[in-house]
Amino acid sequence: MAFIRGASKKDVPSRVVLESSKISNVDDMLMFAESKGIQMEPLDLNEIVNILGLKLTFEPLQNDVSGSLYKDKIDGYWRIKVNSLHHPNRQRFTIAHEVAHYILHRKDSTEFNDSEFFRNSELNAMEKEANSFASEVLMPREKFMAYIKNISSKIEDIASHFHVSAQAVQLRAKSLGLAERA
Ligand SMILES: [Zn+2]
Repeated sequence: MAFIRGASKKDVPSRVVLESSKISNVDDMLMFAESKGIQMEPLDLNEIVNILGLKLTFEPLQNDVSGSLYKDKIDGYWRIKVNSLHHPNRQRFTIAHEVAHYILHRKDSTEFNDSEFFRNSELNAMEKEANSFASEVLMPREKFMAYIKNISSKIEDIASHFHVSAQAVQLRAKSLGLAERA
């Protein structure tokens, strides 16, 4: 029943909770997106965020802050906040990273605050997991390899195809064991 808290409109729909509970890793996420007909190249992150029932907001934050994920104590929604001053491709990585925290770590904490993803050499296990998840969702292995094989292996081309930064492409290529050519 939705009457208990007297604010039924704000209650998180049970459909949304159901969708999220089916996804526990990158493969689930990709299969889920494909089954919903969500655009994969570049991944339509807004649609993912919507279907998962997450609330997305953009606001100006300090330059070294990428964004955050937290559970709103009042209405129970999980909210992603993204630095509106960053480049859209960087924002996409932030959103995917926060979606990763939601999928992988929401049982462990109700608040995740993220600064720069790639520069901090002392990232903890959760941050590494969220980065890998984000990278694999934005640049799925098979699609990434197929693009390089069939279309272009130029970092700028790959970055603009998947709407990610050149740095994210370089890291993804490295994770797939691809060497960079000069
Ligand atoms: Zn994080």
